[in-house]
Amino acid sequence: MRILLHICCAPDATTAYKRLSDDHEVVGYFYNPNIHPRQEYEKRKESLEKLSKAWKFEVIYPDYDPAPWFRSVKGLENLPEGSMRCRACMALRLLNTAKEAKKRNFDAFATSLTTSPHKDVKFINDIGLKIANHVGIKYIPSVFRKKDGFLESVRYSHELDLYRQNYCGCIFSLRNDIS
Ligand code: SF4
Repeated sequence: MRILLHICCAPDATTAYKRLSDDHEVVGYFYNPNIHPRQEYEKRKESLEKLSKAWKFEVIYPDYDPAPWFRSVKGLENLPEGSMRCRACMALRLLNTAKEAKKRNFDAFATSLTTSPHKDVKFINDIGLKIANHVGIKYIPSVFRKKDGFLESVRYSHELDLYRQNYCGCIFSLRNDIS
């Protein structure tokens, strides 16, 4: 199968890419309009470029445009991490990935978000399947953090000296980290 893999960051992409590319042709898709500020977006993008160059795989980089993300979390700004705001954020990124995968004739889409120990994988897979049904393309459910997947991602990141961020990504998670 040809899979479009939504990549949230280079460290999480390591395990996700390794596991999927054993059996499939995988292209990355760095759609993350949640990341703030732009310099942080560029830093995460550069880290992914380093990984894709080292492991020789293609990644698609849409233009950085945070406006749709701010619209999707309107009214949810003050909620804590792990709340409805995060659900809206992840749903937006998966929906855009599904549409892009469909447009480019991929067989399926997946996400590296499930490498993280902090994410609600049940929600991610449930919404991935709903979006797949809505858009008309297959979704590959995953729990990449399982079977030491997260530890693997830490090891790969050290080996390749990949940038590891210390906050989830959006302006609200950045504020929480500082306080
Ligand atoms: S904390 Fe992370 S998942 Fe939640 S809204 Fe911000 S960037 Fe998205």
